[in-house]
Amino acid sequence: MEPISSLNTPPRLLCLAEGRPVALFLDFDGTLVAIAENPSAIAVPSDLAVRLEELESRLSGRLALVSGRSLDNLTHYLGPIALARAGSHGIERVGPDGVAFGPPAAAIPDRALEEISRFVAVNPALLLEAKKYGAALHFRSAPQLEKEVLEFARGIASDFDLEVKRGKAVVELVWPDADKGSAIRAFMQTPQFAGAVPIFIGDDITDEDGFRVARELGGLGIIVGDRVPTLARYRLGSPAELYRWLEL
Ligand SMILES: [Mg+2]
Repeated sequence: MEPISSLNTPPRLLCLAEGRPVALFLDFDGTLVAIAENPSAIAVPSDLAVRLEELESRLSGRLALVSGRSLDNLTHYLGPIALARAGSHGIERVGPDGVAFGPPAAAIPDRALEEISRFVAVNPALLLEAKKYGAALHFRSAPQLEKEVLEFARGIASDFDLEVKRGKAVVELVWPDADKGSAIRAFMQTPQFAGAVPIFIGDDITDEDGFRVARELGGLGIIVGDRVPTLARYRLGSPAELYRWLEL
């Protein structure tokens, strides 16, 4: 872990792996699109899917999206897209043909969701985002509730064997095996990605799992924004800077 000031802008993408093929893994929120007041208010360039598919062909197919959103939700914003992608923090995985691989994902228990709904009912400043395989509690409009939300989430996690994921003004309950690093590891074992150098680009705390696994597999991480500390090796200032760097 090093302070942000020591992280440089990365060299050009194809120079990052010293001539070896690069496999690129991209987070979505805060990386490809700017964070909005609430998760449904993001502004997505209308041709983003096409631009990503072009990038994928430049990389001979070695590009995957790795998002905290569900795959259905990603499709809602991107339209049909022929890209490998992992959703719900990595537990839903499909190849570019849309065919799922890996163990099937499961919803979190109904009783956990009921308790979370009750907590939100008495704290109306919170926004509950019920996901297919998890539940997110957003406290962007009530930052003073952070500690209380976190304590509540930890209680639910221990009662139902779930895991707490922290993000920017959000706490999320998911199954313990839902993490972006596991998704990257799974993709790297497929013929499409095997043997390449993994580069993961993300912005949030949950992306640290991805940075760690990219490093373990001989690659590296690039963080978007100012968050510290981080396992990323390089830094880009914003989604706009990322688009320029990727020529997206
Ligand atoms: Mg993100």
